[in-house]
Amino acid sequence: MSEWNTRKSADLYGINYWGANFFRINDQGHVEVKPAGDSGPALDLYSLVQDLQERGIRMPILLRFPDIIKARIELLAGCFARAIEEAKYTGVYRGVYPIKVNQQKHLVEEILDFGKAYSFGLEAGSKPELLISLAQMDNPGALIICNGFKDQEYIEMALISQKLGRNTVIVVDRFSELQMIINASKRLSIRPNIGFRAKLNTPGSGRWSETSGSKSKFGLTPSEIVRGVEMLQAETMLDCLQLIHFHIGSQIPSIQAIKAAIKEGARFFAEIYAMGASLKYIDVGGGLGVDYDGSGKSDSSTNYSEQEYANDIVAILQSICDEKKIPHPDIISESGRALVAHSTALVFDVLGSSEIVLKDFTLPSPDKESRLVQDLYDIYRSLSKENINEYYNDLVEKKRDTLQLFTYGVLSLEQRAKAEDLFRAIATKIVHIARGNPELEDIRYSLEAELSDTYFCNFSVFQSLPDSWAIDQLFPIMPVHRLQERPDRRAILVDLTCDSDGHINNFIDAESGGDQKYLEVHSLEPGHPYYMAVFLTGAYQEILGDLHNLFGDTDAVHVSLTESGGYQIDHVVEGDDVKEVLAYVEYNRADLIERVRKATESSILKGTISRSEARLLLEHYERGLSSYTYLSEESSMPFLPQQKKELSNGAYATNGNGPAGTDNTVHK
Ligand SMILES: *Cc1c(COP(=O)(O)O)cnc(C)c1O
Repeated sequence: MSEWNTRKSADLYGINYWGANFFRINDQGHVEVKPAGDSGPALDLYSLVQDLQERGIRMPILLRFPDIIKARIELLAGCFARAIEEAKYTGVYRGVYPIKVNQQKHLVEEILDFGKAYSFGLEAGSKPELLISLAQMDNPGALIICNGFKDQEYIEMALISQKLGRNTVIVVDRFSELQMIINASKRLSIRPNIGFRAKLNTPGSGRWSETSGSKSKFGLTPSEIVRGVEMLQAETMLDCLQLIHFHIGSQIPSIQAIKAAIKEGARFFAEIYAMGASLKYIDVGGGLGVDYDGSGKSDSSTNYSEQEYANDIVAILQSICDEKKIPHPDIISESGRALVAHSTALVFDVLGSSEIVLKDFTLPSPDKESRLVQDLYDIYRSLSKENINEYYNDLVEKKRDTLQLFTYGVLSLEQRAKAEDLFRAIATKIVHIARGNPELEDIRYSLEAELSDTYFCNFSVFQSLPDSWAIDQLFPIMPVHRLQERPDRRAILVDLTCDSDGHINNFIDAESGGDQKYLEVHSLEPGHPYYMAVFLTGAYQEILGDLHNLFGDTDAVHVSLTESGGYQIDHVVEGDDVKEVLAYVEYNRADLIERVRKATESSILKGTISRSEARLLLEHYERGLSSYTYLSEESSMPFLPQQKKELSNGAYATNGNGPAGTDNTVHK
C-alpha cells in the first residue's frame, strides 16, 4: 500500500471543494480555518479545541467564525458590485439577511456590523423577527423587508418604525393584507412602503423548492396583483408600491432554475411598472445555494458560482428593463444560507466504537458444529476471486436461513452467534478481495454498508443537525486531526439519543456527487480523544434543533482571528444545563429535589437506605441538575457499552479500545 498523506485526506473528504477556501488541512494533519482565504491567517482547529476545553468549554462545541461571515458578505456584495459595474447597470445592490436562517443575537449583530459598508438590511418573516429587526437595525440606509403572515399589530409596528428612521418595506404576501395596510396607513397617517410578492409559475429545483404557482403558500396571483394595483390607484397610493418580490425556495442547485425564475419575476416587475407604479426595487428572494458536497452536480451542491448568480440576475433584469425602457431597479437579495452556513462548525468527540469487521476466524472442531455453521465455514475457507459471485449468493441465502432456523428452534443461540460471526468474517474477506475490481463493485458496496463500524458520538442529531434527520440533508463531516494517517475504518455515526433515528449513515461523496453509506475514519486510540466536526452548519440548524431526549443547546464560542496569527474569543454562549431543559417541560429544580429528598427520608425510616447513601444520592442528584446535558469525557466511560470485540483463533477478546478521551491533558 502506498504512503498516506494529508493531500489524500483532502481528496477523500473533499475539503478543498466544499471548504470554499475557508478550511484546509495543515502539515500537522489538522483541519485549519482560514477566513480570509489562502493568503490570510490560519487557525488550527485541533489546537483551538484543546485550548477551549482547558478554558472549561465542553464538548460538543459549536464554533462560530465571524470572520467567515464578513468574508461571505464581502463576497456577495462584491459579486453584485462587479456584475453591476461591468454591465453598466444603473441600479445598486442591497442585500438583506433573512433572520429566520439563524436568529442568534451575536450573529445578527455581526452581520449588521460587517454589512454596514454595503447597507445590508434585514428580512423579517414573523412578528418576533420584526421586533428583532426594529431593535437591532440602526443604519438608516439599510432596508427592513417585512414578509410572512401579518396582523394589525405587525403592520402598525412596521409603519410607525419609519418614524424612527427605519427604512421598512411591508411586502403583501396574501391579498387580504393589502386592505389592512391601507387602513392602518390612514389611521396613523403614515404612508407605507409597499411590496408585492408575486406567485411565480416557474418551479424551483432541489430538495427545498417552494411549491410554485397556485399551490404556493405565499404570493399574489396575476389577477390579485392587477386588483391590488387598482386598489392602490383608487386610494391615490400607487406611489407607495415600491417593490416586487419573489422567492422560489432555498438551496437551488441549478442556475437554469434561478434564471427562469428571474425572467418571470422581471416580467412581473416590468408589467407592474407599466401600470403606473414607480417601482424602485426588485427583491429576488433567497435560494443562492451552498456547496455542501463539493461536487458541483447534486442537490447538495450548486452548478454555479456566486459571481455567475449575480451576473445572471443583473443581465436578465437589464435586458428586460431596457427592452421596456424602464429604469433599472435596485436589486435586493435575501440570501441567508449562503451568508451564514460556512461560518459554523460543530466539533464533537467520539466516545467509543463497535467493530463489525472480523479479520480472522477458526473453528477448532468443525464437525461438532451445526450443518449451517459447517457450510459457512467451508465458504469462508474456500472463498477466492473465482467463486466470489457464487459464494456471495450463498451467503445471502445462509443469512436468511440463520434467522429462520433460530426462530423455529432448530438453531441454538450459540450456533447462531457462530453463524453470524462467520457471516462477518466472510463479508470482510469478500470486501477485501473485491476491492479494486470494478466487476465486483455492487457486491462490495452492499457488504461494506453492512460491515461499517459504529462510532458513538457525543452530540444529538436532533439538537445540532435537525435537517440531517428530517430531510436527509448531507453535511461535510470529517476528523479534525490525524489526517496524515490513513483512515483504516469505515463507520456510521450514532448520537447520544435513544432514538434509532439518531444516527448519520449518509455521507457526501465529493467525487460522484452521490452519497456514501459510511465515513472513512481512524481507529480509536485508548486514552486519546478523537475529534470530528460537522461543517457548514450555520444555516437553519440551530433554531430547528430540538430537545429530543432532553439534550440541550451545546456550548458555543465566537472565535475571531487576529492579525498576529492568534485568535480571540468574542463570546462564549453557554449551553443548557439539565435543570434548564427540564424547565422547558415544566419540571422545577427545587420541586424535583424535594421529591427525591422525601423518598430518601421515608426509605431511611424503613431502613432500606443509610444516611450516608441518601446523602450521596442527593449530592449526585443536585450536581446532575446543574450539569451539561452531554457527556463529559471523564464520565463517559461507565455509560457506554464496551462492544468492541475481536475474534482471533476462535476466542473472544475484549480489546481495550473503549471510549476515547479519558486523558484530556494533551497540550500543544
Ligand atoms: C427562507 C427565506 C429566505 C432565505 O433563503 P436562503 O435560501 O436561505 O437564502 C429568503 N426569503 C424568504 C422569503 C424566505 O422565506
